Amino acid sequence: MTEETLTKLSLVRVALDVPLSTLFDYSANEGLQLEIGARVVVPFGRKEVIGIVMERTAQSELAAARIKPVLRVLHDVPPLPQELLALLRFCSDYYHYPLGMVALSALPARLRAAAPFTPKQALTYRLSEAGAALELSMLPKRRVVQQRILQALRRGPLKGAQLRELSASAPAALKGLLEAGWVEAGMPLPHTTHDFENAHRLTDEQQQAVDVVARQQGYGCFLLHGITGSGKTEVYVHLMHEMLQSCPERGRMGGGQVLLLVPEINLTPQLENYFRSRFPNVELVSLHSGLAEGERAQNWLKAQSGQARIVLGTRLAVFTPLPQLSLILVDEEHDASFKQQDGLRYSARDVAIFRASQRGVPIVLGSATPSLESWHNAQSGRYRLLQLTQRAVQPATLPVVRCLDITQLPLQEGLSEPLLAAIETRLQRKEQSLIFLNRRGYAPVLMCTACGWLSECKHCAGKLVLHLRDRSLRCHHCGFQQRVPAACPTCGDADLKPVGLGTQRMEEALQARFPAARILRVDRDSTRNKGAWNAMRKQIHDGEADILVGTQMLAKGHDFPNLTLVGVVSPDSALYSADFRASEKLFAQLAQVGGRAGRADKAGEVIVQTAFPNHPLFQALRTHDFVSWAQTLLNERKMAGFPPFVHQALLSAEAKEESVSYDFLQRARGRALALNLPVEIYGVVPAAMPKRANHFRAQLLVQSTQRKSLQEFLRVWKPMLDGLPSQKLRWALDIDPLEF
Ligand code: ADP
Ligand code: ZN
Ligand code: ZN
Repeated sequence: MTEETLTKLSLVRVALDVPLSTLFDYSANEGLQLEIGARVVVPFGRKEVIGIVMERTAQSELAAARIKPVLRVLHDVPPLPQELLALLRFCSDYYHYPLGMVALSALPARLRAAAPFTPKQALTYRLSEAGAALELSMLPKRRVVQQRILQALRRGPLKGAQLRELSASAPAALKGLLEAGWVEAGMPLPHTTHDFENAHRLTDEQQQAVDVVARQQGYGCFLLHGITGSGKTEVYVHLMHEMLQSCPERGRMGGGQVLLLVPEINLTPQLENYFRSRFPNVELVSLHSGLAEGERAQNWLKAQSGQARIVLGTRLAVFTPLPQLSLILVDEEHDASFKQQDGLRYSARDVAIFRASQRGVPIVLGSATPSLESWHNAQSGRYRLLQLTQRAVQPATLPVVRCLDITQLPLQEGLSEPLLAAIETRLQRKEQSLIFLNRRGYAPVLMCTACGWLSECKHCAGKLVLHLRDRSLRCHHCGFQQRVPAACPTCGDADLKPVGLGTQRMEEALQARFPAARILRVDRDSTRNKGAWNAMRKQIHDGEADILVGTQMLAKGHDFPNLTLVGVVSPDSALYSADFRASEKLFAQLAQVGGRAGRADKAGEVIVQTAFPNHPLFQALRTHDFVSWAQTLLNERKMAGFPPFVHQALLSAEAKEESVSYDFLQRARGRALALNLPVEIYGVVPAAMPKRANHFRAQLLVQSTQRKSLQEFLRVWKPMLDGLPSQKLRWALDIDPLEF
C-alpha cells in the first residue's frame, strides 16, 4: 500500500498535534507524491502545521469547499512505516489520548518541525576497485598520508572522523584520492556479519536463558529474574549476538535489529560504551532526551534505515522505527521511569510488549526485583520465567544484611555506633562505604522551637527543604525558593532548628566524625551540572572517595568493585505509606542498593537502621528472598483488591480554585455512574499532594478486574469527559497509573 501514490485529486486523513480525538481531512493535489506515513505541511486555522498522513478516504463529512489542500510533502525522510503507525494507533486507543498528539510526540523534535530535516549523515569512505588493485609502492614516497589512508581502508570502510585521526592533513589527502578514483564515498553499508567479543563463558543458568529465548519462534515474553550481579547484561549481549545474525528462516537477511530500553538516561553512556566494546563493528545508536536535537533525529534515522543495529534508549525509544526488529530487551523492567507522568502517560515497558507481539518477536524483561505485575504474569504463565540465582563472578556472593533496631540504639545525626564502627573498619581497610538516604538537601524542614512553626511552601501542600550551602529554603515540588529567615516569621524567635536528615546534613555529620575521609555526595543537587555525575563515577572507580552519601541515583546499575558496605539510614516511612506500592518500591530499592556491595572478590555487608527490624520486608531482604516476598505482597494485593488483580484508570484534575477541580470530577463521576457498566467507580478525593504550585488537585479512580471491561467503559466515558466544561482547569486520564 505504501508504494501506491495518488495521481488524481483525493482525500487523506491527517494526524495533527492538537488535543482533539479526530483526524483531519485534506485534499491532495494531482502530482503530489503522497504516501501513508508521509509528513506533510497543512493549513490549520491561520497557521501552517505539520501532520502525518494516516489514511486515505473516499469521502469526507466536510463540505467539499471547506476541505483545504495539503501544502507540501516532506521528503527528507521516508514515510513512517505502517507498523509504527499501527503502534501509535494502539497507544492512542489504549491510553485514550488523541492520535495526533501520540503520533507527533513519538517523533524527534526536528522531525516535528514544519521544515525538512537535513541529516548530517557522515559519509563512509572505502577503496574503489582501482584503489583495491593499486600497488602502494606505485605512489610517490612523499605522499605518506595518502599511503596511510589507503592502508587503513584496506582493513575496511572508515568515516571521515576516523580518517582525520590518521593525520591532520587527511582531508587534503583524501580529496586527492577521491579525484584519482582510488577511494569512493558513500552511505555506510550495513554489516552483514559482526565481530563479537565473547568476554565470558556463560554460566549454566545464563546459557539456558540465552538458549530458551534464542529458540523462540515468534512472539514470546520472558521475565529474566536475576539477582544483582548474576550477569543479566551478559545474557543481553549473547542474545544480541544471536539476533544480529542473518536468519533467512525468520526473514532476517542482513541481520536483525535489537532494541534495548533502559530506565535512566544516566546509564546510557556507560552502557553504550560497554556494548560498543562487545560489538566493535556494529552500528549502535542511543536515543534519549539528553541528546542534542540534531543528533537525536540523526540516530532515529539510522534506526529507521536499518543501518543502526542496536538501539539503546530510554522510554521514548520504544517508538523508534526498526525495520529489522528481531528482539526487544527491557532492563530493570520494574523501574517507574518507564512510565511517563505527563502528556501521553504511557508505560514504555507495556508498549514494548505490545510492539513485540505486533512484530512477532521475543521480548525479555530483566530485573533483580521484577514488578508485581510482571511477576504475577510470570506466575500465571503469560510470561516465561528465566532465573539467574547465582552471582556470575565467583566467589562473589550476596551481601550479608543486618538490621539495627534504632529503638534500642542512640543515634547521632541519624547514625548509630555499630554503623559508624562498620564505616571505620572500611576506612581502615581502604574499602568504600555507601550511605543511602533518599532525601536531598540538608533537612526536610525547618522548625521554630518556640512556637512550632514549620517551613511550609505557600504554593504547595508540602514543606520547604533546608539547603544550607546557599542558605535557602526550597520546595522540591514547585521550585519555589527563599532565603532562610533570620527569625521565626510567626513569633520572631531566633531559634530555628533543622528537623530530620537530608544528604547534605549526613555528609556534614560524617565529615565531622571522620575528618580524614574523602566524602562524596551524589544526589540531584550535586550532579546538576553536565558531566558532574560522570566525573564522580570516575572518582569512585579510581578510589578517590572513601564514603559515598547518596540517593537512589547511586542505587541503579553501577558497579563499584571496592564498595563493601552499604548503610541504609531511614527507610521506615515507606513501610506504612498510603501508597500501596511503597513497600514494593522500597524492597526493590534496597535490594538494588544492597547489590552494590561486594560485587567482586570482597564480601559485602548491608546495614539497615530501622525501628521495625522484624518487618517481613527486612526479613526477605536478609534472606534475599524476592520470591516469597513477592508472594506475600501478591497475597496482600489480592485480598485488598489492588493491582495486578484489578486494572485502574485515574482521572485527575487541578485548578487554582478548589471547587473547580472538584466540580469537574463530580460531573465526570455522575456520567460514569449513569453508564452503568461493570466497573468500580470511587469517590472524588484529594490527590496525595493536594496542592501543588497553587493548584488544588483531586482525583477519581475507576477500576475493574477485567482489563476489557475497563477499556470498554473508557471508550464511552472519555468522549463525555471531552464534552464537559473545563475552563480554568487541567485534567488528565492516566491508564495503569503508578502515581496517585
Ligand atoms: P547484573 O546486571 O545481573 O547485576 P552484570 O551483568 O552487571 O549483572 O554482571 C555482573 C558482573 O559479572 C560483571 O562484572 C560481568 O562482567 C560479570 N559476568 C557476567 N557474566 C559472567 C560470566 N559468565 N563469567 C564471568 N563473569 C561474568
Ligand atoms: Zn516561632
Ligand atoms: Zn511548592
